[in-house]
Parts: sequence; structure tokens; C-alpha cells
Amino acid sequence: MFSQLIARLNGENSRIRALIPILFAVFCNNTLASTSAVPLSENEQQWLQAHPSIRLAVDIDWSPFEYIDDSNNYVGMAAEYMALVSEKLGIEFDVEKEKPWPEVVESVKSGALDMYSCVVSTEQRREYVNFTKPYLSFPMVIVTSDQVAYVNGLKDLKTETVAVVRGYATQDLLERNHPGLELYLADNVADALEKLSVGKVYAYIGNIASVSDVIRREGLTNIKISGETPYRYELSMGVRKDWAEFMPILQKALDSITEQEHDQIYRNWIELRYELGFDYELLWKILVAVVLIVGFVVVWNRRLSSEIEKRIDVEKSLNDARQKLEHANKELHNYLEIVDRYVVTSSTDDKGIIISTSDAFCEVSGYSRQELIGSSHNIVRHDDMPASIYNRLWRTISRGKTWQGELKNKKKNGGFYWVQAYISPNLDENGKIIGYTAIRQDITNKKRAEELSITDELTSLFNRRHFNTVFPQELARAERENKTFVLMFIDVDYFKLYNDNYGHQQGDRVLQLVSSEFKRSLRRAGDFAFRIGGEEFGVIATIENGEDAYQIAENLRQAVEDLGIQHEYSKAATCVTISIGIEVHQCNSAQPARAELIYRLADDALYQAKENGRNQVADRSTKLAPDRLESSGH
Ligand code: GH3
Ligand code: MG
Ligand code: MG
Repeated sequence: MFSQLIARLNGENSRIRALIPILFAVFCNNTLASTSAVPLSENEQQWLQAHPSIRLAVDIDWSPFEYIDDSNNYVGMAAEYMALVSEKLGIEFDVEKEKPWPEVVESVKSGALDMYSCVVSTEQRREYVNFTKPYLSFPMVIVTSDQVAYVNGLKDLKTETVAVVRGYATQDLLERNHPGLELYLADNVADALEKLSVGKVYAYIGNIASVSDVIRREGLTNIKISGETPYRYELSMGVRKDWAEFMPILQKALDSITEQEHDQIYRNWIELRYELGFDYELLWKILVAVVLIVGFVVVWNRRLSSEIEKRIDVEKSLNDARQKLEHANKELHNYLEIVDRYVVTSSTDDKGIIISTSDAFCEVSGYSRQELIGSSHNIVRHDDMPASIYNRLWRTISRGKTWQGELKNKKKNGGFYWVQAYISPNLDENGKIIGYTAIRQDITNKKRAEELSITDELTSLFNRRHFNTVFPQELARAERENKTFVLMFIDVDYFKLYNDNYGHQQGDRVLQLVSSEFKRSLRRAGDFAFRIGGEEFGVIATIENGEDAYQIAENLRQAVEDLGIQHEYSKAATCVTISIGIEVHQCNSAQPARAELIYRLADDALYQAKENGRNQVADRSTKLAPDRLESSGH
């Protein structure tokens, strides 16, 4: 709406446009708040008493500022100000109501009149009067025939004849600042506008308020306000120079005029303008729009600055958060570096193909990252690890669970390392397994120590201590799984004689060879070989139902015999042989086995094998061989 109004204003009605500054002047002057009391010093009061009547120089024909109306009353805006001053100071003004303006000016100069009511302060005038601060302010406008579209300031008038009122401040101002202008000096505003109306002059320059007033009064319809000048009429009161004491008194009186009083005077005379035919409704609308817009801008600015404050706050917290994040990132980065360096990790796809590894994994396995990525994880699987462990592992993780346990892994160079592994599935957003991540701790050293503690030094078989651990464990497991549990006791035949004849060292060598044969033959998961003491060994095996345990023992016996280690002093053979006592226990979880019984039965069987002539396998069903009854004393 506002832009439309402005467009109308610019395009059509430059008179309205010219009036805006007036209204602003009104508003501005209204803001000069003042007190209504006029505090005067004693001297000042004395001065006023000495000058009860002051002869006032006025323009008798300068509506709406001041003029003498038909009833010979001094009226107009200035007249109302003078009335207020008169009232506030308790003095009378004796108004000169006859003389035309040029004569009035002369009277003030000569001292026949004491003060001007309403004049522009010019340099000339300042020579003989002192001025109060301006109390009225109006723009100086350019008036032309309504045939002229628009005058863009004084420079458009260079080649034209321009009317001003003789003796008015306009004349002084234009002669001084625009000497190039060709001036026509009119007697008064009416005279000037009449010359303009009949085309004698191109333009008139004067005060917007008086111009508007004359146009209305004279009914001049063919002229209009066509442009503005950079000047304003700043109207003050002017007091004869020798009355310096009166100046502060007068100024105090002006200052004490209240806002309401200013307001009333303007309203009294601005009201007139409605009669001029201007679109004041539009003007007020514009003003309302301006006020609304200014208000909006103020509110908007406030909101904006609070918004900016909020934003600054938010930015600060963002910055803080960013800094914290950087720290956290750094920590995370360090942490990841440590993990990369020290933790043996890898990820695979769902088929077990390696897709990422840590440095530590490369280092411990001896493979480069390039070698590992794309390979199956089986690349590090060690033959010592029974298939059953891997079966269990896969069963667990493919069900979406984490598997943990100890694994012996194979190095690229054939060596091994032990890890405690935690292997978890990686799930997508639908819970589907897309791969696996393994985190492992290198426990090779721990394992080594552990192994030492359960290994027989001479033969590298498990030792007696480990037998004591494994025997009940494996028996329990076989029972859980309803499998067949086998315990064998093995003793080298006539070994004392061997030592005695071939020497202890050679005897040790035999123990090692026999042990190696046990290891070679017992390779299945669940097979354990122990050196229980001296030249005595134990074997524990968990076998499937129906498997021939006796045959396993027989194979061992045969394998040792097949070593063909010469033993001339053996009564069982010409080479080193062993006797085996075997107890085969078909586990049944409903009837728990007694470990001692199994132990004793195996021991008894060994005894039986010895009794029956050695170099043989015996179990609980083995009866004493008839040819031995005699020698054994049974
Ligand atoms: P059999 O068992 O056939 O009845 O006769 P044996 O001669 O083997 O009898 P026994 O079991 O009583 O003798 C065990 C011998 O084994 C005693 C010792 O000379 C020998 N022996 C025990 N421990 C070791 C060892 O660590 N190294 C060597 N070289 N000999 C050992
Ligand atoms: Mg023995
Ligand atoms: Mg023996």
C-alpha cells in the first residue's frame, strides 16, 4: 500500500509531496517539550515592568503566518504565538496594522518598532535585530503554472524569470546563493502568484504555507507547487539590538510553550488546508503507514538483535561442541591407533573373507594387509585346532551370538601364536548378518607357560598333572554327549633291562621315540596322550559309539613294535614293545561313571596284559592266558 501511495504522490500530486515536510516540521516542533512556567529573575521582571507595551512589527498580509483580517484583528500562527508570549510574560504587544512590509522593515531599523513577530534570520537583519531560536519551520517551494510537469530544483529555473516578494528573506537568499537567477520582485505573495497565474513570470519561490493559503484565497486554479528547494523558512522572533535584556526573557517564554500549545496552533492553521482540495486523507494514510512501518522496523530491529544475540549464543555453544568433538575425535583417533597397533582385529564378510585387519594382526600373523584382505580367515587356522572347535564357533556366531575362546593360529612362516578371541557378528539395520568382527588378544606367552606346566619335558606329551585335570573333564564331557570313553594305561616292557644294558640315555631316547609314535597315532579331537611317570603312559580318547577302541590300542602297540628298536634282553620280543590295559566305558548320562573305577579297571587290564606275556592289549574281559596260570601262581 505504501509504495502505491508514494507512486501516486510522485506521479500526480506534487503539492501533496511538498506538504509532507510541513507536516514533519509540525511533528518536529511538537517534540520541543517545554514547561509552561516562565521563571524570571528579579532583573528580568523589572525590565518587563519598565516596558509594559512592545511595538510589534508584523506582515499584514502573510497568511497563514500573520495578517490583519477583515475585522482588523491580528491573526495567524505567529499571532497565536505572540498571544501566548503576551500571556506568559504579562505584557502587551502593540501591533502595527497598517504599514506594508517594506515600511515595517524600515520602522524596525529606525527603532520605531521594537520587534519582529515572525521573520527569517538573515545576515542583513542580524545587523539590527537579535533573533530567538526558530519556532516555525517550513520548506521553500517552487510554484509554477499547472502546465509545467515538474521542476527538479532551482537549477531548472536558470533561464526563467522567477518571482519573489520584495524584502522577503527569499530575495536575500536567492540573490546571494543563486546570482544567475532572473528575479521579479513582487509586492506580496498574492501579487507574485497573480503574475504567475497570468504567465508574466515562470515561477514563484516562497514558503509553502503562505503559497497554499493564497492559492486557496485567490482561487488560483491554474498554478501548482511543482518542486522543492533545499531551503527552509526558519521563522524566529527578532528584537531590536539595544534590547539585549529582552532576548533571554523572550526565549524563556518561547521555550515554555507546551507541546499541546504548539500542537493546537498548527492544528488551527493546518485545518485550513482541507479547503485547498489536497488529498489529506491520503496524506494521513501515508503518515499512518509511515508510522506503522517505522514501528514495524523498530520492532523488527529489536527482534533481529535478540535473534542475533540468540544466534551468537548458539554459535558459541556450537563452537564449544565442535572443540569438544575435536578433542573427542583426537582421543578416538589415538584410541584407534592403539587398537590398530596392539589389538589383533579383523573383519570378514558373511562368508569369512577378510575385509579389514589391524596392524597388530598383520604383525602377529606375518602376513601383509594385502595378503590378508580378500583371503579366507582359514589362512591362519592351525592344524592343532580340532574341527569341533571351529564347528562350535561357526554355530555360535551364525546364530548372531558372540563366541569366545582360545585359538591356536598359524603364522605365515609355519609358526604359531595363541589368541583369546571374541568373535561377533555384524548386523545390518534389519538384523541380518553381513559379516563378523574378531578381536583377539595374543596369549602365546601365557599359553607357553601354561603348556610348560602341563607338558612332560622329555617326551613333550602331557604330564601327570594334566592327566589329573583332563581325565575327569573328558569323562564328564563324554557323559554329556553320551559317547564312549576310553582310558588306556601303557607300560614299556622290560625297560629296566633296557636301561641296564643300553644305558639310561638310550632309554630316554626310546621314551621319546615311543611318545612320538603315540602323538602321530592319536590325532583326533578328544585324543590325549600323557606320560604318567617313568616308562608309563596314559591315553584318553572319546570315541563315537561302535568305534573299535580295542583296535585303536592295538594300532598303538603295533606301531611301537614296528619301530623295531632293538631290545635283546626283552623276553617279550627282540625289540622294544609295550603292554596296554584298556577300559572302554559306554557313557550313559543316567548312570554317572565313577572315575576311580575306570582308572582301576584300566590298571587291572594292564596288569593282565603284563601277566599274559606283555606286548599285548588287554581289557576287563581278558582272562588270564592258560599258559600263564602256572607261572603267575593263580
Ligand atoms: P615290566 O614293566 O615289563 O614288568 O618290566 P620293567 O623293567 O619295565 O619293570 P619296571 O616298570 O619295574 O621298571 C621301570 C624301569 O624303567 C626302571 C627304570 O630303569 C626305567 N625308567 C623309569 N623312568 C625312566 C626314565 O625316565 N628314563 C630311563 N632311561 N629309564 C627309566
Ligand atoms: Mg613300569
Ligand atoms: Mg615296564
